[in-house]
Amino acid sequence: EEERLMQSEKLNTAGQLAAGIAHEIRNPLTSINGFLKLMRSNQRNKEMYFDIIESELKRIELIVGELLVLAKPQSSVRSRPLDIVPLIFQIVTLMKVQSAFKNIELEMITSSESVWIQGEANQIKQVFINLLKNGIEAMTNNGRIWIRIESSPYEVLIQVQDQGSGMTTEQLQSLGQPFYTTKETGTGLGYMITQNIVHNHNGSIHVESTPGDGTTFTVKLPLLQLED
Ligand code: ADP
Ligand code: MG
Repeated sequence: EEERLMQSEKLNTAGQLAAGIAHEIRNPLTSINGFLKLMRSNQRNKEMYFDIIESELKRIELIVGELLVLAKPQSSVRSRPLDIVPLIFQIVTLMKVQSAFKNIELEMITSSESVWIQGEANQIKQVFINLLKNGIEAMTNNGRIWIRIESSPYEVLIQVQDQGSGMTTEQLQSLGQPFYTTKETGTGLGYMITQNIVHNHNGSIHVESTPGDGTTFTVKLPLLQLED
């Protein structure tokens, strides 16, 4: 019974996702179609039409790119022992390039220099790129984002805390629904991908948020188990 329930829930999610994808891609396609027709009948303004078509195509490319990341966990999991501390250090260094433009400081605090988990490096990187990107996007200029790593005997806890806009209860409920976004150029796929990857690594993700104050995401991942 439970199995059946899970099966139908899965179908439902797949159906929802398919409907979302269709909708999100049809919009730019309709617009490309329309502007191509306009270009046929109107030889002026060609440059402007080209720009619009180009940006609509980029939008489709962005959505399809994110969907491919989502499709990966099932098709190619190359899981191996992974030291999460240098990996997160690498991501923080990378994201500092973006945060510097907004004068946002990224501060990494870790209880140990090395924490081993079992996982796929590119996917784990994606998780923290998505969380840090959202943190940076939620903040206006200035402020700080803390990235804390704490390990216990069984798991590692990685916390990303920002001083951004925060989310209301309603927004928190929508977070992770495919295509839910409050951003003009957002795809609303990032957090869903993040959740997916964390769950595929037998971990959990938890969010706490206060409007006007900021948001804290806590990711927990099981430590690498050495077999004897
Ligand atoms: P996107 O970033 O493309 O909008 P996400 O799935 O990453 O898609 O996020 C969905 C929405 O959740 C965002 O548009 C934003 O409204 C909200 N959100 C996510 N992370 C944060 C955060 N750190 N602070 C405030 N709001 C957030
Ligand atoms: Mg995002």
